[in-house]
Amino acid sequence: MRLFDTYTKSLVDLPPPPGPVRMYFCGPTVYARAHIGNARPFILGMWLRSWLDATGYDVTLVHNITDINDKIYEAAPGASAELAARATGWYLEDTGDLGLGMPDHLPKATEMVPQIVAAIDELVARDFAYSVDGDVYYRVARFADYGRLSGQRPDAVEEQEPNPLKEDARDFALWKANKPGEDTAWDSPWGRGRPGWHIECSVMAEQLLGPAFEIHGGGLDLVFPHHENEVAQSRALGHEFARIWAHNGMLQFTGEKMSKSVGNDSTIREAIDEWGAATVLVFYLTGHWRKPIDFSRETMAQAAARLETLRNAFTLKAAAPDAGRWDAFAAALEDDFDTPRALAVLHEWASDRQLELLLRGLGVFGLASVAEREQATADVTDLAERRASARARRDFAEADRLRAELEAAGWQMRDDPGGGYTLVRRA
Ligand SMILES: [Zn+2]
Repeated sequence: MRLFDTYTKSLVDLPPPPGPVRMYFCGPTVYARAHIGNARPFILGMWLRSWLDATGYDVTLVHNITDINDKIYEAAPGASAELAARATGWYLEDTGDLGLGMPDHLPKATEMVPQIVAAIDELVARDFAYSVDGDVYYRVARFADYGRLSGQRPDAVEEQEPNPLKEDARDFALWKANKPGEDTAWDSPWGRGRPGWHIECSVMAEQLLGPAFEIHGGGLDLVFPHHENEVAQSRALGHEFARIWAHNGMLQFTGEKMSKSVGNDSTIREAIDEWGAATVLVFYLTGHWRKPIDFSRETMAQAAARLETLRNAFTLKAAAPDAGRWDAFAAALEDDFDTPRALAVLHEWASDRQLELLLRGLGVFGLASVAEREQATADVTDLAERRASARARRDFAEADRLRAELEAAGWQMRDDPGGGYTLVRRA
């Protein structure tokens, strides 16, 4: 199994099973209902965990909740804690409804402030950080590899968090002194305040996975400054930190407006309510995780049609199983987790009625329920039985009339050559 690594700009092999494979995927900053684009790193992390688990790895997935952040203070002045708690609930509910289960750990920044303070203290002791007026800044000039992950020249790094008291415009905050209107603050050797965003992730990752771990994920928009700063902090502490940086491509809105209330935009909640969780998952399968993906009414309708094709395969009689064909599916995923290629294999199995393989493959992506047929009610099976006997006594007029009744009730009756039938929900 290999994955593309942003740090070395190359495909990097995972250790052989059982690994371990320890993964940290940056999670949401909780101040509103999460955007449909935020579902991508969650889904990718869960799919990777599922696939690695199925191939014999000992795998752990950590996905953090950023519940201390400038955006939350700005969204709810004086009441950020309540908003963060409410938005955390929304995120867990919305991602939970995708039907993929939950990561092994969902740490919150507010639960790890003492460990974060200890890490900052250690950076100050190692001369990689300094305090100014209750803030603490990371000394970028001390870290020779700064800019390597994001590919920026160290002398051309853009300024972060402007403050005239900083030694160097590139230095970024590890600790921020409490300001009026910020309702949450913790004690520290530098006074009351709260951690910066980047150090939160370095510490949450290492607390749960150790000082070195296999995969760090997140959107491409996080490479700079967030992940560049995570590397700088953890390496300055003498820790190896992440071995593979897996950055997912961004979601782009194309085509006509998706939602009236918020313009050309959509939340995970709205996407699930409108299209169903399985369609959202098939939509993400259609794009390679590293590439941008277009979200529009057209691409979602295409995903829904693909889902229907896969679903309908289970109304047909299975062909003799050919287990050797699993290899094509596995090869696609082992090669940089190429889900569009894996999805093409699923469609081949669907058209060849390789239903055992199809069910197993769909299960990797949390789509096993596609194989479940909706149970017909007693009224519907009664109509079907009456139509079957009409056909048996060659009363085709009556059989046609009953077929129309079934269709009006939303069901289709597929006749088998042997005189039997299958009831299928009409698309
Ligand atoms: Zn992060």
